[in-house]
Amino acid sequence: MRYDEIPMSREFSQKIAHSLDDAPMHTALSRASLYFDLSRTWAFADLEDLEALKRRAREIKEFSIEHLEELLVQLQESVTRNGGRCYIAQNAQAANDYLLKLMRERGVTRAVKSKSMVTEEIELNKHLEAAGVEVIETDLGERIIQLAGERPFHITGPAIHKSREAVGKLFAEKLGVPYTDDPYELTKIARASLRQSYLEADIGITGANFVVAQTGTFIVITNEGNDRLTMTLPKIHVIITGIEKVVPTLADAGVLLKLLPRSATAQKLTSYVSLVTPTPDREVHVILVDNGRSRMRADAQFREALYCIRCGSCMNICPAFRAVGGHVYAGQTYMGVIGALWTAYVDHNGQGDLQQARELASLCMTCGLCAKECPVQIDLPWRNAQLLSRANGRLGRKPTDRLKSFVYRKLLPNRKRLARAVRAWQLGTRVGLPTIAQAILTRTDADFAHGLEILHGHQFAERFLHERLSELLAKNPNSSGQRVGYFVGCGIDLLYPDAGAATIKILQHNDCAVRCAEEHICCGVPAFYYGDESAAKRLARSNIEILEKLATEVVVSDEATCSAFLKNYSKLLRDDPAYAQRAEKLSQRVRELSEFLSQIELKPFQSVSEIVTYHAPCHLARPQKLGERPLELLRQIPSLEIKELEKSDHCCGGAGTYSTIHHRVSLKILSEELERLKATGAQTLMTPCSACMIQHQYGCRRQGLPVKTVHLSELLARAWGVE
Ligand code: SF4
Ligand code: SF4
Repeated sequence: MRYDEIPMSREFSQKIAHSLDDAPMHTALSRASLYFDLSRTWAFADLEDLEALKRRAREIKEFSIEHLEELLVQLQESVTRNGGRCYIAQNAQAANDYLLKLMRERGVTRAVKSKSMVTEEIELNKHLEAAGVEVIETDLGERIIQLAGERPFHITGPAIHKSREAVGKLFAEKLGVPYTDDPYELTKIARASLRQSYLEADIGITGANFVVAQTGTFIVITNEGNDRLTMTLPKIHVIITGIEKVVPTLADAGVLLKLLPRSATAQKLTSYVSLVTPTPDREVHVILVDNGRSRMRADAQFREALYCIRCGSCMNICPAFRAVGGHVYAGQTYMGVIGALWTAYVDHNGQGDLQQARELASLCMTCGLCAKECPVQIDLPWRNAQLLSRANGRLGRKPTDRLKSFVYRKLLPNRKRLARAVRAWQLGTRVGLPTIAQAILTRTDADFAHGLEILHGHQFAERFLHERLSELLAKNPNSSGQRVGYFVGCGIDLLYPDAGAATIKILQHNDCAVRCAEEHICCGVPAFYYGDESAAKRLARSNIEILEKLATEVVVSDEATCSAFLKNYSKLLRDDPAYAQRAEKLSQRVRELSEFLSQIELKPFQSVSEIVTYHAPCHLARPQKLGERPLELLRQIPSLEIKELEKSDHCCGGAGTYSTIHHRVSLKILSEELERLKATGAQTLMTPCSACMIQHQYGCRRQGLPVKTVHLSELLARAWGVE
């Protein structure tokens, strides 16, 4: 049994394990990823203001989905006026029935088809073949997977996981041609085998990338031109696409067209852009598929997913997708993080599958790379977290999830209780408790059990930060310097108290009077991103009250993840009338440590002779766009030698507690990071995030790498002589 055939709901972790061991898939994906990584910059280089273009694209999609009903009426009128027939299918069954009836009436026995994800969604080929109609896929990638009997691996590159050697063997076996792995020869073979099919087909089926309501025009982009042969050689042309593809005008489609090929295949334009407007002299049918989209549109949390223009860049960039591939990180049709959102509403029968969607959503590490790439600015990690929350609320949880929920709801809101739990864990290590716990948990949740290894080897300090605060704060300067609130994150407090102490000392050294709240609670980020939105909101409300009492102009956090989430309180509590404004005010006051230090006058640095490299935490680099700030500080330290870490802002696989959810995926991503780390030759890795610190330390321990991991504040404290 291939791993993409194992039933997903029961065997998800087995599928993940198989995919992680699939060396040919990883080789093929690495080649493709290298191409995308290298070409992306070039593809966007000529756009003067990319962010403005993305904002415009988003506005177009927002408007189109908001006015979808009117636009669909307008589109139907336009198509009919032009001479075509337009049918809105409420679900997959209705779409297939329409087409099968048409085929029966016209006596169709052969069809050619160009690439269309909607036809995958409605399982068109299966239905046509059951009715005795032969369907030939004409897109090269689709043809390869049709011959292989597989499903698409990627939204724009259906056969991206296949090496040319594998394609050569497949063609030899299925098409009876001599083996070759020369891409040029393989393309010639595919072309020759398809030519006759176009001539013999009675019907040509295409999708559409954009649909223009005003003119009734359908825009199809390809690199092979197969769409043009498909739509023009057979007597009948059928366009099947989703209702969400409609936009008001050709000019609107033009804006989206600037972004789609660049984002999808790192091309300024695809080789073929076909604009099709039905005419009375040809039989053209348009089937617009709903199949769950209207329900998605009515859901405020998931409507945004309908803005997707199917570029696939959220898959290309995603470390989790690169690790497990598009046969595992996929619902019935759609892949990656956007696939998780769509799977909640859209599947083969238009009902959606929340269970499957939850499994996919669990793969996200919230690194934010996808959101940065998305041409229509969909807030993918945030929506993914909301999907998890919803699914957890409706479907219940596994025993280990209930344990995590206990942590989010009972321990994170009470630092002293959390500290006692950590101390109990420490004591337990002396009598082998973690080993026993791991042995028991392995039976119910192997990832959770293995993920605990990270904590197992951690050297805890004798005192947590909150136990040292009064003596640290007693050293506040007597100057009239700025009053600064310091937000003590859980990771810094319990795992890296020396880093927190260093933060207080360097702020004081630079004339700040540091204040801390007496009660310390978690910012809420672990609860939010792992599917407990209401627990996160409770923590956020409590933190707003606690931090308001501090009465400081700014609140500084030395945890990239905490500062990012505190800034996001305004988004989290947007619909809470009692807290929305207060959240907004707090969000404005929050500063990440390096951000704050770059805004005040700093004392001179002393020399530090060390070779250091820097890993930018995801939540610093993406949502806060501050990835360079720590480096700017380090560059001011005399004698410090900084070695550049390749992809320094890519996820290390830590992502808070991700390692306890998908331990093996986390390890794979970590091993790639460690290869890059080794290449720097640095003695020290600096990263201002406790989750990244513990993940790197764990990796270095496993591999015996002599690299020390430190927080930014610890290095700065040395450079200011206040260790
Ligand atoms: S946030 Fe990161 S891990 Fe999650 S889907 Fe996006 S790219 Fe993938
Ligand atoms: S969610 Fe955004 S990045 Fe992902 S496929 Fe859709 S448009 Fe592209």
